[in-house]
Amino acid sequence: MSGGAMGKVGTVGSGMAGSGTPDVGAKRGGAPASHRPLGILAALPQELGDLIEAMRAESGVRTITHGQRDYHLGTVHGAPCVVTLARVGKVAAAATVSALIHAFDVDAVVFTGVAGGLGNDVRVGDIVIADALLQHDLDASPLFPRFEVPLLGVSRFAADAALADRLAAACERFVAEEGVASAARFGTREPRVHRGLIVSGDQFVASAAGVNALRVALPDALAVEMEGAAIAQVCHEYGVPCAVVRTISDTADDHAPESFVSFLTEIAGAYSNAILTRFLDARNAQV
Ligand code: SAH
Repeated sequence: MSGGAMGKVGTVGSGMAGSGTPDVGAKRGGAPASHRPLGILAALPQELGDLIEAMRAESGVRTITHGQRDYHLGTVHGAPCVVTLARVGKVAAAATVSALIHAFDVDAVVFTGVAGGLGNDVRVGDIVIADALLQHDLDASPLFPRFEVPLLGVSRFAADAALADRLAAACERFVAEEGVASAARFGTREPRVHRGLIVSGDQFVASAAGVNALRVALPDALAVEMEGAAIAQVCHEYGVPCAVVRTISDTADDHAPESFVSFLTEIAGAYSNAILTRFLDARNAQV
């Protein structure tokens, strides 16, 4: 790492949070493209699986605390990464990804986590990769069209196609290699991989009425969550490629709270490990 952002704090090989302050003013684009890290984030710790432990075993971890979040720097599956937790909601996600871009000079961002299924054929245990993301609770009408970000003129933020393709390939490999075993282990059907629209808002959707309202307003939405479109907006504004992969933990209906909690505690980490391992190995092989 040659960037000033990386040069200050060292707790290599330790899980302790560092106490230093990253150089927020570090100039972007200073390091050669291939040396800039990938930003990997999730909302909740279970959604990262064993990623930080894998990083600790491979390269040691340097942890920098910034804006009440711990940013873990190191190499995992051969790829230099900054791994962090955004916590829940659009503001939390936007603040965190902004720090990844400005203080840690990431060259791309991948978000991994769980979501509620909205699409007709999207079931618990399936995987959705975003082609586009939209904020379903954003409505400045009649001044601007519903869902459009005022003064930006965009409602659907495109995920980076190459990054999304690579995530999809990793998911397809996971399903081909472990889908049957995963279904038997977790009592789901064999996972299917979907691509399309993911919608985000500052609500945990947990009612038939909530699902129906989203289906009527946004018939092509496959999944609902609380962070992805905020990350996509910030990445769009800064020209940083991003991709979002979500495992379906619930179907956003009356059963969503129990389904979400049991999926998060028992299954989410296994999916993240399976997907990220394959994604990072392939990414590393390319460099
Ligand atoms: N403090 C709670 C909050 C979880 S909110 C907890 O830790 O248990 C739900 C999280 O999972 C959010 O990060 C959101 O992105 C995702 N999610 C899963 N199912 C969802 C649904 N039905 N509606 C909205 N977000 C959902």
